[in-house]
Amino acid sequence: MTKLLEGKNIVVMGVANERSIAWGITKSLHNAGANLIFTNRQERSYKKLVKLLEKHEIEPKAIISCDVESDESIQGAFHEIKEKIGVIHGLVHSVAFAKREDLQGEFVTTSRDGFLLAQEISAYSLVTITNAAKELMTEGGSIVTQTYIGAEQVVPGYNVMGVAKASLEASVRYLAEDVGKDGIRVNAVSAGPIRTLSAKGVANFNEKSQVVEEKAPLRRNIDQDEVGDATLFLLSELARGITGEVLHVDAGFNIIG
Ligand code: NDP
Repeated sequence: MTKLLEGKNIVVMGVANERSIAWGITKSLHNAGANLIFTNRQERSYKKLVKLLEKHEIEPKAIISCDVESDESIQGAFHEIKEKIGVIHGLVHSVAFAKREDLQGEFVTTSRDGFLLAQEISAYSLVTITNAAKELMTEGGSIVTQTYIGAEQVVPGYNVMGVAKASLEASVRYLAEDVGKDGIRVNAVSAGPIRTLSAKGVANFNEKSQVVEEKAPLRRNIDQDEVGDATLFLLSELARGITGEVLHVDAGFNIIG
């Protein structure tokens, strides 16, 4: 039987280490036969990624530097992808950032700089990346980003990132409308809390995880591999009728009042 993503070229943005959601996604996509192209920002992340790929015997098609804060860096990265790979069929956006001081205390004290930075890296980046990626998705494609329930409800401490995720989810819908005519779909996965490098910056993370274990219909939290499989689904032909959607992978937590 052919694998779900056999022969498909997929760009994965946002592997920082083995705990990253993007690493869970990488494993799912690799098992589904995808050709993987990675982008990362920091040298530290690049080194960790290279080691992880070696350990898991995954041969990347390319690893390219990309800082989503810089238009020049994004243009350079997609130019390189075009030169080295040509057509791409999918893209995973698993990138976010906010200042640590804006992820605790009260949202009302958020600085202008902190607000704009979180919006720029965590939400606007999807807009500009979609614009760059669509030029290479000449056979149609699928883009999947990562969001959190803090976009829909107040999650104490998530603050500026909750507002950025709300912007990200609205962007998913507007982008889906724009690129739908080119056969490109844009969706988000809304994952339950997972202990990653980024999650360390969020106040009371342990409590958030505990509440999910107590209240979610499945009475447990989820892991990177479950997000990986859901992202794989959205990238694959199985989800060909789905766009502009936010798919919760949270053991059902979001349905509980
Ligand atoms: P990680 O810290 O593992 O990943 C975050 C990634 O964002 C890193 O690879 C980092 O790259 C990248 N990044 C930050 N700023 C930039 C930038 N300017 N340019 C390019 N890349 C950048 O954390 P997660 O895996 O938790 O986060 C991945 C996504 O999942 C985020 O959107 C997050 O909000 C979302 N999410 C996380 C949840 C959780 O509980 N962990 C729950 C729901 C959603 P580098 O290391 O090179 O700086």
